[in-house]
Amino acid sequence: MDFGFTEEQEGLRAEVKDFFINELPVDFRPGVFALSEKLVAFVKEVESKLGKRGWLAPVWPREYGGLGLSEIERGIIREEAGYWEMRWPDWSGINPTGPALFLFGTEEQKRRFLPAIGKGEAIWLQCFTEPDAGTDEANIQLRAVADGDDYVFNGQKCFISSNPIKPDYLYTEARTLDIEPKHRGLTLFLIPADTPGITYNPLPTLADFLTLEVFFEDVRISKEYMLGELNRGFYHAMTTFEFERVETGNATSLKQDLQEFIQFCRETKRNGKPLIDDPQVRDTLAQIVVDIEVLRLHLWRTTWRLSEREKLGPLDYELGSFFGKELVVPIYEAMMNILGLYGQLKTGSKWAQLAGSVERRWRTSRSTHIAGTIEAMKIVLAGRGLGLPRRR
Ligand SMILES: Cc1cc2nc3c(=O)[nH]c(=O)nc-3n(C[C@H](O)[C@H](O)[C@H](O)COP(=O)(O)OP(=O)(O)OC[C@H]3O[C@@H](n4cnc5c(N)ncnc54)[C@H](O)[C@@H]3O)c2cc1C
Repeated sequence: MDFGFTEEQEGLRAEVKDFFINELPVDFRPGVFALSEKLVAFVKEVESKLGKRGWLAPVWPREYGGLGLSEIERGIIREEAGYWEMRWPDWSGINPTGPALFLFGTEEQKRRFLPAIGKGEAIWLQCFTEPDAGTDEANIQLRAVADGDDYVFNGQKCFISSNPIKPDYLYTEARTLDIEPKHRGLTLFLIPADTPGITYNPLPTLADFLTLEVFFEDVRISKEYMLGELNRGFYHAMTTFEFERVETGNATSLKQDLQEFIQFCRETKRNGKPLIDDPQVRDTLAQIVVDIEVLRLHLWRTTWRLSEREKLGPLDYELGSFFGKELVVPIYEAMMNILGLYGQLKTGSKWAQLAGSVERRWRTSRSTHIAGTIEAMKIVLAGRGLGLPRRR
C-alpha cells in the first residue's frame, strides 16, 4: 500500500500553503470564530480569493465553481486550511447545501446557486434545529403551507451557526404534511435570507460560536425554492449530512495546536526545569501525538475510499467525526492540566499562557452538539454501522 501523494498533488499542497502564507498575517490564529466583524470580514475576503481559484469546492465541476478535482485534492486543500484553523463564513453553503443541490436540485437551481457558493460569493445558513427538534429532527415544526404558487412559513429555528456577516440564503427544512411517522412530512427549501417576515436574534454560546434564533412569520416564497421532492426532505437531508463528516483539516488544526504547545513546554520552566523534561508531560504529549495521527489516518483512509468512488456507509462517515469529537475534549483537558491554574485564564489576562488559546480551545471543544451529538452518533454507529439491534 502506498500512502504517498503524486508530484502534482504535492505541487498543489505547496501552492495552497504559499497562498495562506502570503494572504494571512504570521500570527493569524483565530482558533474559533471570534465575534469581531473585522476578523470575519477579513476571513470572508480570503474565502472569496480561495473561491476564485476553485479551491473552496475543488471537486465540483468547473461550470459550478469547482475544478473537477478528486477527493484527494480536496483533502489536501482542507488540510492546509485546517492548519490555520480556517472556518469559512460560508461553510454551510459549501457543505451541506452544495451537495444537497447537486443531488436534489433542478438544473436551474444548480446554475443559479452553486457557482456563487463555489466562488465564496454568497453566505448560506443551515437552518434545521428547533427548540423541540434537534437530535429528533423528525419533530420539525416550522410549517410551510402551500398557497397558490407560494409556500407560507411560520415557526422558529435555533442554534444556527452564523457570524457577524449578513446571510444571503437559508437552507432549511419545514413541515409540509402532518403524518405519522413524522419524518414523512418534511421538505427542504432554499430561502432568500432577506424575505420579509424573517427575523434573526443572536444566541451566543459558551464556546464563542455565534449562533442565531431565526423566526418566520408569514414568510411567503415561491414554490420554485423547494429543493428535491415534496415530503422527502428528511431522507434527502440524511443523505447530505454524511458530507459534513470527512474533514481532513480537523487533524491538521489539532497538530498545529500541539506543535505550539510542545514549543511552550520547551520554553517554560517549572521547579527549575523545562516542562518538556517532566516524564508525565512527555507521556501525555506522546499520547496526543498518537491520537492525532490515528485521526489523520482514518480521515485520509475515508477520503481515499471516496476518491475511489467506493460506496461508504455510516461507519466510515461517522467514525472520523465521532472519534474527532471524542478526542478533542481530553486533548485540551490534558493541556489545561499541564498549564495548571494558569490554564483557566482567558485571552486578555496578562497572566494567561499562550494568550489564553488553550482555555478558548478547551471551551470550544465542549461544543460537540454541532452536526449531531456524540450520543446520536453512537446510536447511528451501533445501529446502521454495526447492525446492532435497537434498544426497546
Ligand atoms: C455551536 C453550535 C452550532 C450549531 N450550528 C447549527 C447549525 O448551523 N444549523 C443547525 O440546524 N443546527 C445547529 N446546531 C444545533 C445542533 O445540531 C443541535 O444542538 C444538535 O442536533 C442537538 O440537538 P439539541 O440541541 O436539540 O439537543 P437534544 O436533541 O435535545 O439532546 C440533548 C441531549 O440528549 C441527548 N440525546 C438526545 N436524544 C437521545 C437519544 N435518543 N439517546 C441518547 N441520548 C440522546 C443528546 O445527545 C444531548 O446530549 C448547533 C449547535 C451548536 C451548539
